[in-house]
Amino acid sequence: MNITRREFIGAGATAVATMTLSKPLFAVEGEQSLPATFAGRPVVIASANGIRGVAKAYDMITRENADTLDAIVAGVNIQELDPNDQSVGLGGLPNEDGVVQLDACCMHGPTKRAGAVAALEDVATASLVAKAVMDYTDHIMLVGAGAKKFALEMGFEEQNLLTEKSRQDWLKWKSCINNNDNWLDHSDPVKIKYSTGTINMNAVNATGDISSVVTTSGISWKIPGRVGDSAIIGAGQYCDNTVGAAGSTGRGEANIKVCGAFFIVELMRQGVAPEAACLKTIERVIAMTEKRLLDYRGRPRFDLSFYALAKDGRFGGATAYSGGQFAVADASGPRLVESAYMFKMTERPASPAMVCRQA
Ligand code: ASP
Repeated sequence: MNITRREFIGAGATAVATMTLSKPLFAVEGEQSLPATFAGRPVVIASANGIRGVAKAYDMITRENADTLDAIVAGVNIQELDPNDQSVGLGGLPNEDGVVQLDACCMHGPTKRAGAVAALEDVATASLVAKAVMDYTDHIMLVGAGAKKFALEMGFEEQNLLTEKSRQDWLKWKSCINNNDNWLDHSDPVKIKYSTGTINMNAVNATGDISSVVTTSGISWKIPGRVGDSAIIGAGQYCDNTVGAAGSTGRGEANIKVCGAFFIVELMRQGVAPEAACLKTIERVIAMTEKRLLDYRGRPRFDLSFYALAKDGRFGGATAYSGGQFAVADASGPRLVESAYMFKMTERPASPAMVCRQA
């Protein structure tokens, strides 16, 4: 194992500190807080839906000595290929035309390379296509028809990503959008709202190499061609091999304006602990949010979550409202960990969601 003396001493010191520190809800700036079960490197973290993926990526890194990006891409592929996950890849909720359009991006710390795709259709594993853009082209991002053409040329399988369940949900949404259209009420009186969902995963291996990836079908019923933060390097994810990695899930429009993942990594570069960096970024998001999306107390009417992983293996996550969790795999095994938060969920104002006439 190729580990420098400085890194070894750093990891050892933080592991010892674990025994005496418990995790504060709000870490203060500069405080090097440690997750209660901190076990040092390697570590893989993800949004909560990545619980199977972090276990897979951690196994690949520790047992097969896999590259960190290969491992986390394999981790997110589990959700991308799962037709029951309606937030990414196959089975993702479609845009307003009933077409599934995917966004993804990734960064490889050791080689300082990145790739992205936006509004990709008919190929489930958008993360792998983003990685192919990184591996096989001199570009960083391909979009729409060009991204699909590239993917097919690279040998990716073309398939219809709209599952029957997602098609039915789309039909329900269409029958709810206004009282004067020509769509009849759907037989199933379920309230269909906008929904979000994405998977972000970040890993650091034993020697401190880091990678990050994020993949999504984006906000449901979006305007065709809408691109969210998951395609934007620096917003949906970011990785700097000298500092750490970060990523986001939730309302991409809010995250893009603050370059959230990049901002977190820059805060960690200045010595801010991962959890505190995530909280500070949520503060920044709120400060940059237009009035229509805030309640009278200045609280956001949307969800946004951040995840951060430092080079030494410390990690943290934060959400605007309580109740958030994220997935972690390290020597203590795969598990869900509670995110820090700004406000209690009970204080959350209603989203400006569309009102379904059946509800
Ligand atoms: N961030 C994604 C987007 O805005 C959606 C999500 O994470 O739920 O496209």
